[in-house]
Amino acid sequence: MNKPLYLDSHATTQVDKRVLDKMLPYFSEIYGNPTSIDNLHGAQAQQAVKEARKVISTILGCKKENEIIFTAGATESNNIALIGSFRKFKHQGNHIICSAIEHSSVLNTLKYLESEGAEVTYLPVRKNGIISIDDLKKAIKPDTILISIMYANNEIGTIQPIQEIGDLAKENKILFHCDAAQAAGYEKIDVYKQNIDLMSFSGHKIYGPKGIGGLFIRSFMPIVRINPIFFGGEQERGLRSGTLNVPGIVGLAEALKLLVAESASINKKNREFSKQIYDALKSKFPDIKLNGDISRRLAHSLSLTIPGVESKALMLKLKNDLTFSAGSACSTIKVEPSHVLKAIGLSDEETYQTIRLGLSKFTDDQQVEFVTEKLVDGIGSISRN
Ligand code: PMP
Repeated sequence: MNKPLYLDSHATTQVDKRVLDKMLPYFSEIYGNPTSIDNLHGAQAQQAVKEARKVISTILGCKKENEIIFTAGATESNNIALIGSFRKFKHQGNHIICSAIEHSSVLNTLKYLESEGAEVTYLPVRKNGIISIDDLKKAIKPDTILISIMYANNEIGTIQPIQEIGDLAKENKILFHCDAAQAAGYEKIDVYKQNIDLMSFSGHKIYGPKGIGGLFIRSFMPIVRINPIFFGGEQERGLRSGTLNVPGIVGLAEALKLLVAESASINKKNREFSKQIYDALKSKFPDIKLNGDISRRLAHSLSLTIPGVESKALMLKLKNDLTFSAGSACSTIKVEPSHVLKAIGLSDEETYQTIRLGLSKFTDDQQVEFVTEKLVDGIGSISRN
């Protein structure tokens, strides 16, 4: 077993070797520019991009391949979707609804849009980390143009009622953007069936490379048109100018394909492993609390509040054995209590006593035993002091 054992899959994942093998020829053999289609190198690269787009669009339930545009990751997809749709539709209304537990790439983008005149409602979540559809209904106003709610949360793993949100948005003729960075590949997604209009996803959360992602933009009932937010060679239907990252695109498609094909068994295994770890810790330390809904959650995700144990101290103590995250301040370098944990009702103190474990598709029985043993020892020794 490689140590420290990696349990930080919400932050990023290793590139699956099969994905890497598929990508390698696109660095120094098939390296043409996919927009230079009148030469053979370019045409070969373009063919690879076309195939990747086909794979991804089929998996996500798109109607057309070109509903997928490639970006540098979910942060960029979220920016393009939110800023691009606000600028396109602001003459119809300026109100946007999001949840209070969105990722910073959504929250900070919406905060920026407030400076362009947007009015944003931050919908609270219930104690289980899930929004209430009634609250969402009540928040809708005549000038609401966009709802942006994530599929699965990156800190507590809770899964939102995407179908109901999509149906409600459609009924009210409001665009629905979904940040699916933590869910694509892991959860069954069908963008048309779920009435999603715009959806962001990322390569490095799904055993693909970093620096590549995608955005789904619906083209049928309704045709969703958004404004570009930066300008250049007009690649990706003018919405994401810049030379395409061909190895990344090939890797993203392969990573998604592999994860989707294997997700049923991976999720089953990880759901059992998560329960095993939680049960073992709970039996030794009965005060431990699991954050987020017990069943509507990502199978590989465990957010635990351990009273009396500072997460940073536990991380330091176990740093040679286990790699995991503190539940707070997951995505920034600022040490502030996590807005997600606060939103589900934790006190500041509890947020600093929270850890996030993210199992991997490669986690096995022996590793689960090791994790449990190390956490029991670490928590025991800190809480005795
Ligand atoms: N949204 C969510 C829910 C995420 O977890 C992340 C990554 N932490 C992002 C967006 C940003 O993704 P990327 O790193 O691909 O920009």
